[in-house]
Amino acid sequence: MNDTYKHKGMRKRLAEEVRRKGIKDERIINAINKIPRHLFMDSSFLEFAYQDKPFPIGSGQTISQPYTVAFQTELLEVKKGDKVLEIGTGSGYQACILEELGAKVFSVERQKQLYLKAEKNLIQIGYNPKVFYGDGYKGMPAFAPYDKILITAAAPYIPDTLLQQLKVGGRLVVPVGKGNLQVMKAIDKTGENDFTETEHGHFRFVPMLNKKAND
Ligand code: SAH
Repeated sequence: MNDTYKHKGMRKRLAEEVRRKGIKDERIINAINKIPRHLFMDSSFLEFAYQDKPFPIGSGQTISQPYTVAFQTELLEVKKGDKVLEIGTGSGYQACILEELGAKVFSVERQKQLYLKAEKNLIQIGYNPKVFYGDGYKGMPAFAPYDKILITAAAPYIPDTLLQQLKVGGRLVVPVGKGNLQVMKAIDKTGENDFTETEHGHFRFVPMLNKKAND
């Protein structure tokens, strides 16, 4: 699959749309303008790649809406060189946005088929986040602690294990809630056992589920 002038033009419009909706960090707008989102989607959805909407990626999951990806990324306040743990690799698109911002990215996916697909696809497109097949509720202790942790599925609660894997001074961004709508929260780790929390509006995510899945 290639990246044509038409794709580039549509991508530029998408980046402008995300800016218009309120994203201020130009690094994120540039990343959206640069990363070929159509290469993260099944061919049957290619024509939708540059609409500001979520779309199915298989195994009952979705690639998040670009605005939502940008919103969570902005909230994460990524600095060059940050070590970032993402829970919910999905297509791998969000991981590439983080990498464009200069982060060292570690990403965990519980659905085996998605993990395998993302791992292969990321190499082909030319990005290098480390992706793992595992249960995000456990985090990725081997590479902890992290400067930032981003959960891209709806968490019923904030997993304590993940807070433990965050550096003091670090931030975790997570949509919290069991129903149809979640509250976007940013948790700042201010001391070994001290946290402050802010809320940032409502979003809709697929659920963060327990344990690895083989389908
Ligand atoms: N960030 C993705 C979109 C995420 S959709 C992208 O850019 O495409 C949410 C993803 O979280 C799904 O792929 C789902 O399988 C995964 N997920 C749900 N529960 C999980 C868990 N406990 N651990 C790891 N991944 C999980």
